[in-house]
Formats: sequence, structure tokens, C-alpha cells
Amino acid sequence: MPVITSLHLEKFQESDRRLTPQRQAVLKAFMELSREHPTAETIYHAARRYCPTVGRATVYRTLDLFTQMGIIVKAPTLNGSARYEMNRSPHSHFVCLKCGRTYEFQRTQEPLGKYTNEEGFEVLSTSTIFFGYCPACRE
Ligand SMILES: [Zn+2]
Ligand SMILES: [Zn+2]
Repeated sequence: MPVITSLHLEKFQESDRRLTPQRQAVLKAFMELSREHPTAETIYHAARRYCPTVGRATVYRTLDLFTQMGIIVKAPTLNGSARYEMNRSPHSHFVCLKCGRTYEFQRTQEPLGKYTNEEGFEVLSTSTIFFGYCPACRE
């Protein structure tokens, strides 16, 4: 079962928000499914396993709250539907044009972390999206 980290607890303390059982359930659902870039609906069903009384409206409100707090971010998709993931170390995404899945995609050349370019733009994170065909769809 996923364990809520002290980093997340700090975010709640800083912002003076309560980590209610419903919010804990949504957070745990994310820790379980983040790599799959779940939809709100997927998160709702997973959250009910941790807190059977949590309602759909509460889950959707919690997703908005977590996004505002920087705990989760929206992941890119082919058709613009909302998918989410934990806000963690920068990584690129690969979106398959055939099956529409969003994959994690590692590319080593990308500068990691914070840097300032020659023109004075300070970069905190990068997000590159690659489009093409995933290994399963290429067969
Ligand atoms: Zn595919
Ligand atoms: Zn991702």
C-alpha cells in the first residue's frame, strides 16, 4: 500500500490545508498509478479502494486542489483529454499516434534542473513531447 511521504505532508502544512481521508485516498491512488498517466475517472475508482465513501465530485475537486498545490500536473495526450501524473523529476513524454497512450520517454541530452540561457531566460523545468508509434503498435 502506498505511503504518503513527508514531502507531501509538508506541502499541506505550508498551505494550511488538511489532509482529509478523502484527499489521502486520492494521493495514494496517484502514487499507485502515476506512471500510467491516469484520467480523473481512473483515479476516482482507485481512490474508492482506499476510502469507499469518497464521491466523484470530491475527487474532481481534489484533483484541482492538487494541481494548484503543484502535487500533480497534467500529462500531454493525443486528443486533449485530461490525464494527470505526480509532479516529479523532469521527463519527456511519447504519445503514440495509433493507440493514443502516453508513455514516459527518457532522453539523456536534455539539460536537467535549473539553468539560465544566454538570453537570460531562467528555466526551471522542460517538457518535450515526442509523437510516433510505440513498440506494440509498430508490430
Ligand atoms: Zn501505440
Ligand atoms: Zn509522465
